[in-house]
Amino acid sequence: MDIDLDQLPMPDWDLLCPTCRYPLKGLPAHRCPECGAALDIPAIVRPWSRLRPPQFTGEEEAFPDFGLHCGACAEPLAGAEHRECPHCQSPFNPREFVPRHEWFAVTAAMCGGLPTQIVELILEQQYIPFVTHDHKTMFDIYMGSRSVGAQMLVHREFYFDMLWHIRAKQTELAQRQAAGSGKTWTCPACREEVPDHFDLCWSCQHERMPD
Ligand SMILES: [Zn+2]
Ligand SMILES: [Zn+2]
Ligand SMILES: [Zn+2]
Repeated sequence: MDIDLDQLPMPDWDLLCPTCRYPLKGLPAHRCPECGAALDIPAIVRPWSRLRPPQFTGEEEAFPDFGLHCGACAEPLAGAEHRECPHCQSPFNPREFVPRHEWFAVTAAMCGGLPTQIVELILEQQYIPFVTHDHKTMFDIYMGSRSVGAQMLVHREFYFDMLWHIRAKQTELAQRQAAGSGKTWTCPACREEVPDHFDLCWSCQHERMPD
């Protein structure tokens, strides 16, 4: 998904001038009318900024493949119509899947086996608002271990978007595996072995170098 961060007038992204806190919504230029500061929008935007509405509401006519399962028979709900399980016909309410908290913690089950770094990249690339919540211990800080206990919080409004994109990535990975393209490249920065189809290192997000 591509969003032009430099578009004018400025959309309602709930951004403030970093110098004087003036709200930037509706500005015709990238200059703060209050304090005169030049505004570098990509630098002001944060991972939790809401730059777009959700693509999915869970109310779609044919239930998209969110990787969700029927509570009654445990079969996948993908493709369900009329809010009924396609396997056992039990009714379901899409809203009941949505986490209760406004910002919910992304669990391993939601990631469906994808490393958290990949999920973080998906969230970034799809402009899904999220916060990283670091529970670092003194040991982690002194010993330099990375992403220990790092927890991602995603806005509830984007629950279905997150699931759909995780599911799409899982499918893509499965297809590549089936096609036998198990190639990897070695990250020049952290030496991580990264699957061929990623252009950024999934561990440190360093760019891939030409072979
Ligand atoms: Zn200002
Ligand atoms: Zn069922
Ligand atoms: Zn790396």
